[in-house]
Amino acid sequence: MSIRVRFAPSPTGSLHLGVVRTAIFNYLFSKKNKGKLILRIEDTDKERSTNDSFNEIISNLSWLGIDWDEGPIKQSDRLDIYDKFASLLISEGKAYRCYASQDEINLLKEKAKLENKIYRYPRIWRDKTERPSNQEYVVRFKTPDNEEVEFKDSLRGKISINSSNIDDFIILKSDGFPTYNFASSIDDIEMGITNVIRGEDHLSNTPKQVLIFNALKKNIPEFTHVSMILGKDKTKLSKRHGAESIQSFKDKGFLPISIINYLTRLGWSHGDQEIFALDELKELFTIDNLNKSPAVFDIEKFKWVNSSHIKNIPNSELIKRLDISLIPDVDVEKALTYIKEKSGDINQIRDSLKFCETHKILINEDLLNSVTKDQKEILSNFSNFYNNASPKTVEQIKDSFNEFLNLHNLKMKELAFPLRIILTGSKKSPGIFEILDILGVKIVIERIKEYC
Ligand code: GLU
Repeated sequence: MSIRVRFAPSPTGSLHLGVVRTAIFNYLFSKKNKGKLILRIEDTDKERSTNDSFNEIISNLSWLGIDWDEGPIKQSDRLDIYDKFASLLISEGKAYRCYASQDEINLLKEKAKLENKIYRYPRIWRDKTERPSNQEYVVRFKTPDNEEVEFKDSLRGKISINSSNIDDFIILKSDGFPTYNFASSIDDIEMGITNVIRGEDHLSNTPKQVLIFNALKKNIPEFTHVSMILGKDKTKLSKRHGAESIQSFKDKGFLPISIINYLTRLGWSHGDQEIFALDELKELFTIDNLNKSPAVFDIEKFKWVNSSHIKNIPNSELIKRLDISLIPDVDVEKALTYIKEKSGDINQIRDSLKFCETHKILINEDLLNSVTKDQKEILSNFSNFYNNASPKTVEQIKDSFNEFLNLHNLKMKELAFPLRIILTGSKKSPGIFEILDILGVKIVIERIKEYC
């Protein structure tokens, strides 16, 4: 049987790390098993679903490179399908219309609260045959009494719960929209889903979904409920722990592969290996290596994973991602090779390369004023010396630099500090020999002339 999995986000807010990790696990599982990934948009919560959130899901998944084989399929476009299945269940006596008003339900809930009891819908309409006209209704599932509801979770083994613990839950709301549990099971059936990989927070929903599968005599998919991601203090992951939306990590200069790599490792392992290429993950990913206990998010490690990938990224790809153009005389290959080695993220690389983007660099006034008259004189002398030497390789650059220091009895920083400011407009930039190598003799001389 060919594998079919789905990623089923609700478009009710920003795409967060936990949700994206679920997408990644489904994606890797489908690739590893040569299966299909379906993108299903669970937008049946009319109040909370937004188009902006839908667009954000699509653009973030595309940016990450998580491509799907079918979809996006919106549940709001499939109301007639849920309606058809609800009618089928009603006709088979497995579901029923409930005309209890919201006020009536609220009163029952209050009563239960006063009596310190857990509210259970008292099955008012379960066995009635009349159909009041012009009265709103919901459709409820007729939960069987005292039946063992069983399913297999790949990480937790066989799970069994007695149906007496489950209410006659609503499957269609009064506006004709399905509830999550109903739409999810109908779609899993209709879309031929073989494996459901989702967050552990849905474990409590699964028995209701299994009841629907059983009522419709359909095969139950294999469930995998993956552990939650927690903050370092073992509480629910939030912004406080540095966990923001994918969009904000993108804005901060994280690479898609760093996000995929880090999130995959958060809850899955392959020995002690930390850094993976995407193709490697597609090849290695297995459910068996998922971890049952919660994963702990560590922003420092996330940054480290990102900087490791930055160092590995080919220059041809890096320059595209940076979306910048360097002035023609600059040695682009050298610039990227040197700078990526020292940068933790894409934004840092972009900042560090600012001095290569224009001929006339802007130097902040205070910084420029920090270069003294004497230093300017040293720089002018250096400029003549350097022009004559015209070094070609980084070794030759070092040699002529040191020769100049010896000749004038100067310490390294007496030349390097003002030279760096004049050449880059910044105090912190790559090493001085690297700057000289990137810019080439001609630009170095031009910049010194301009300011000294
Ligand atoms: N829409 C649900 C969510 O975003 C998906 C649950 C599921 O995968 O079944 O949490």
